Amino acid sequence: MNRRNFLKNSIATLLISSLGNWDISLASTTSAWRIKPYPPTFQTGTIGLLKLKPPCQVDDIKARFGKKELLVFPTDTPKTWPYSCLVPVPLKAKAGKKIITFRAITPHDTLIYSYKLSIKKKKYPKEFLKVKKKYAEFPPAILKRVRADQAAVGKACRAVTPTIYWHGPFIKPVPGRVTSPFGLQRYFNGQPRSPHSGMDLAAPIGTPVAASNSGKVVLTRDCYLSGKTLILDHGGGLFTLYCHLSKFKANPGDITDKGQTIALSGKSGRITGPHLHWGVSLLGSRLDPQSLLDISRFLA
Ligand SMILES: [Zn+2]
Repeated sequence: MNRRNFLKNSIATLLISSLGNWDISLASTTSAWRIKPYPPTFQTGTIGLLKLKPPCQVDDIKARFGKKELLVFPTDTPKTWPYSCLVPVPLKAKAGKKIITFRAITPHDTLIYSYKLSIKKKKYPKEFLKVKKKYAEFPPAILKRVRADQAAVGKACRAVTPTIYWHGPFIKPVPGRVTSPFGLQRYFNGQPRSPHSGMDLAAPIGTPVAASNSGKVVLTRDCYLSGKTLILDHGGGLFTLYCHLSKFKANPGDITDKGQTIALSGKSGRITGPHLHWGVSLLGSRLDPQSLLDISRFLA
């Protein structure tokens, strides 16, 4: 090893040992990293995409955003942007600059790079409704069922499968228009409910529901609020959810192709008319499915 390489390696080793578990933001910066965000500014309640090119050939890249380990995956464009990374920006995230720390392993080195991300607060619509008290509160037995449903769905969406099942753009599961957007904040008699966790798409009962991308069915459950619910695991902590279905056409454990019919739409659960509620979860955060469609054209 020549002096220059020795010095370089020593500095890298020093850097790694001083970083310990590397979850601090003041890591070294290497100017030759190239990173491009889609869209340029990330908004709360959405998924953002980063395309990246490390300064040299690497064996592996990891990314850390706050307490979350993000999945960095190789793309189909190794020459221009060899890697991509999906970033969850929760509804409750604060606006401002946030750091994502990348850690690339090369045969000789570990390179650490801190990228500054801009986050903007997105305004979501509000709706104020006056309803009879019995519709605003659940009796204890129903509440117990609702909580059990939420726990089952939450558990299914918390797993981080290392296999990436999806490939290329995500698609809308039914052709219908959006009847209720993600993030809509409803107030019942002045009391805020949870913001709308997905988008509602118009779909007459019995409409074939297509898998938004390739994935593995991890849950089919008849829930009190969301009715017959199916969850697809796309890998890397990314899930799509399909609710108010009339019939399941796939079973837990099935691997589905993009576009494959996984269910028929319906009006099961607590809703007033038939539609498909389509949700997206990334690393435990429910995010706007529209943002996944928007970045989809940059996925390769
Ligand atoms: Zn909905």
